[in-house]
Amino acid sequence: MEPMFSPALHRQRHEFVIDFVKSYKPKKVVDLGCSECSLLKQLKFHHEIELLAGVDIDSAVLVKKMRGLAPLPTDYLQPRNDQLRIDVYHGSVTQKDARLIGFDLVTSIELIEHLTLADVKLFSEVVFGYMTPVAVIVSTPNADFNPLFRRVSGFRHSDHKFEWSRAEFKSWALKVCLDYGYEVEFTGVGQAPPGYQENVGFCSQIGVFHRLGVRAVRNALSSNDAEDASSYTLLYSKIYPSLRDSNILRRVLVSEVLYWAEKLGRRWVEEEKTGEKDDADTPDQAGGEGKERCRAPESPLQLEEEQTAACGAAMKSLVEHQEVGELFWADGGGLQESCKLGRCVAVPLFVLWGCCPKICALSGSLGNLRQLLMDNGKVNLSQDGSALLLNFHEQEDHDDFEDSGYAEAMRCPHSVEPEEDWDANV
Ligand code: SAM
Repeated sequence: MEPMFSPALHRQRHEFVIDFVKSYKPKKVVDLGCSECSLLKQLKFHHEIELLAGVDIDSAVLVKKMRGLAPLPTDYLQPRNDQLRIDVYHGSVTQKDARLIGFDLVTSIELIEHLTLADVKLFSEVVFGYMTPVAVIVSTPNADFNPLFRRVSGFRHSDHKFEWSRAEFKSWALKVCLDYGYEVEFTGVGQAPPGYQENVGFCSQIGVFHRLGVRAVRNALSSNDAEDASSYTLLYSKIYPSLRDSNILRRVLVSEVLYWAEKLGRRWVEEEKTGEKDDADTPDQAGGEGKERCRAPESPLQLEEEQTAACGAAMKSLVEHQEVGELFWADGGGLQESCKLGRCVAVPLFVLWGCCPKICALSGSLGNLRQLLMDNGKVNLSQDGSALLLNFHEQEDHDDFEDSGYAEAMRCPHSVEPEEDWDANV
């Protein structure tokens, strides 16, 4: 019986890399022989990565697939905290390019067996001697496993120039370590059937290399290397939306503020109308003091409900303590001038800042929050800048805040594209 792998072997190889990324949190990762960019498409979801690059010699496949690396709608709706740039290059791993020096992780998944042995030597020089990454993951077929494939005679793929036994792979890897100052661990994916593992090893053998000691990143422009400094062609480069961009930060913050202000304001208006007090809104039960505060919410919706209730409770207690209830209800009070039609509610910024962790995290301080909301056409602040004014009558005429749907959408989970099957199960 032919060995079958579940998940498929190419997925197991990518999962191996993803597990490594989760543990070591590299910031700069390049995938050599990236082909259809399927590993890059998965790695972009790992937010610790700030620079993701791919290199392949086959420009046709890159041109066809690289646009799948573009940001998704959710990347605009929920921008990441840190930056991400994705670069895709056309070039050969046998040539040097200074833009790939000093990465944290280089991956070479089922690539080296497509090179001649002379090119494997160049690959070693380029990757370990020139790019000098902190870590390298190399996977390649394990020839010792091949007898278990009854239908495979010769190599597993017609383009393979060789397939190494475990001993051959080990001998190449140890020489690389000696020549360039790395250490290596051997492992693999694709378990053999019970009873065979010891004799044949993994279907895909993997070497995980770590650079020894702290090595100065080599000078990319030294003598001969200068002429090779950009031998690759950059086919695609995309910068992902990030909160480090102040326009994006402001847009996200305003949406969040409007969403929460409207939610709180509506709740207060409703309670005022019905005269009903929701007992769940006491701080004890809704996120205030006491044991209940530590209870994990069962769902994001419940968390949101609890946050709103907590804000409501905090606000009501503030109003009661300070006896300024009329300030928040503009029918006959001091806010009439700015809200001539209908009912005006002022939501103090400190309530929003204190009750919504996301607003807190985005703005950093109450002063920043005020600063970031000032002069924003969508936000109506009180004269002293301490509260956000909402006019519910006007909003109802205009079918609610245009941004509330936006903020709601920001709560949607990521949609992940289905992955392609580049190669066969081996
Ligand atoms: N790494 C991919 C993955 O995990 O899905 C699949 C790799 S595919 C089996 C081998 C890739 O190596 C092909 O896309 C091929 O074009 C590329 N390749 C072969 N020789 C190369 C070279 N000298 N430089 C860069 N890429 C090369």
